[in-house]
Amino acid sequence: MIATAGTKGVAVLGSTGSIGTTALRVLERQRDRFRVVALTANSNRALLSEQVKKFAPAFVGMVEQQQGEADESWKSGSEALISAATRDDVDIVLNAIVGAAGLDATLAALKKGKRVALANKETLVIAGDVVKKTCAAGCGEVVPVDSEHSAILQCITGHPSSQVRRVVLTASGGPFRGWSDQQLAGATIEDALRHPTWRMGRKITIDSATLANKALEVIEAHFLFDLPYDSIEVVVHPQSIIHSFVEFIDGSVVAQMSVPTMELPVLYALTHPERVSDEGVPPFDPVSLSPMTFESVDHQRFPALRLGIDAGRAGGSAPAVFNAANECAVAAFLAGKIRFSDIPRAISSALDALGDMPAGSRENLLAADGAARNHVREMFRC
Ligand code: NAD
Ligand code: MG
Repeated sequence: MIATAGTKGVAVLGSTGSIGTTALRVLERQRDRFRVVALTANSNRALLSEQVKKFAPAFVGMVEQQQGEADESWKSGSEALISAATRDDVDIVLNAIVGAAGLDATLAALKKGKRVALANKETLVIAGDVVKKTCAAGCGEVVPVDSEHSAILQCITGHPSSQVRRVVLTASGGPFRGWSDQQLAGATIEDALRHPTWRMGRKITIDSATLANKALEVIEAHFLFDLPYDSIEVVVHPQSIIHSFVEFIDGSVVAQMSVPTMELPVLYALTHPERVSDEGVPPFDPVSLSPMTFESVDHQRFPALRLGIDAGRAGGSAPAVFNAANECAVAAFLAGKIRFSDIPRAISSALDALGDMPAGSRENLLAADGAARNHVREMFRC
């Protein structure tokens, strides 16, 4: 792609994933505003090569690259993520990496004063305070890509935070909404991967089935919008049309809606507070989208949500332990080593054992992350 004066340079980290490929569709349509400067992936060489052909970025990184496997100009190892995120020609870093692997790139980009369009919610869950301090010191900016947080941002933009009374995050309820305990006990990997409204990467799809995703999102909202946990609620909305509600101090409630597509929140994270013309979102037809319904969360069947919110309230290293135990347990579930109900069991056990490890720095939080992963591996001998 030829660099054009006046366009903003974008690094897409995790370009081969669900959000990464969505972002490239958006960026392809918006070539007069943005140019793709850097692409990184973990190991999907074939797809990354295709993307490189199409966008001709100045920088390409593949973390797990064997010597001689790909173009020699591609950078390898996790340092490639930092290099991509800190380039002078990069204005916006779209962090679409899954899991704790995304943390250091976020911090490095913020230190350099970049805008981070953040899909990698784990960054804020593991190290929300550290991210905020780094952001302030480096004059960076975090703009959420997560649809619920994009919705909140779209509702509150133009209003001081003192006017916000509470937010209500919507949750689809996942594939197991309404399942009995007996059915849940026999839930298979295929069942858990069958999300009713969103097509996403495997890890977040399992997080949506356990509702751990919504716990990550409550913690993410706490840090993004400086909201106390008492002001963040969750409601099940199976159609995923309303992406969140904001209640203001006068009692008025504003919601943001669209058919479920991540193209809109990705675009908004790139252009906020502006809006630009785009053809990516299917037309909004309230009649065909009817009915829109709402239900309370079933905390007894989906204990991961409460565990995560409690970890958020406890603060310190507890959210990092919650996240790492969840990541490790989800990987074990997807590898067929543990049952679905073992995921919240693993989280709860790790939090009991390790929830008050030292926090306050990236190093301490990563030590808590590592300890939680070891705890879960030992628990299931996997
Ligand atoms: P995905 O698994 O489809 O893609 C993950 C990407 O990260 C891939 O490009 C992969 O190559 C890269 N990656 C994986 N491990 C890596 C590592 N160790 N080092 C460097 N790169 C690595 O995941 P996704 O569904 O696109 O989700 C990405 C992030 O966005 C997650 O944090 C998720 O919670 C969040 N998110 C996703 C959606 C969605 O619709 N998919 C919506 C909201 C938020
Ligand atoms: Mg979300």
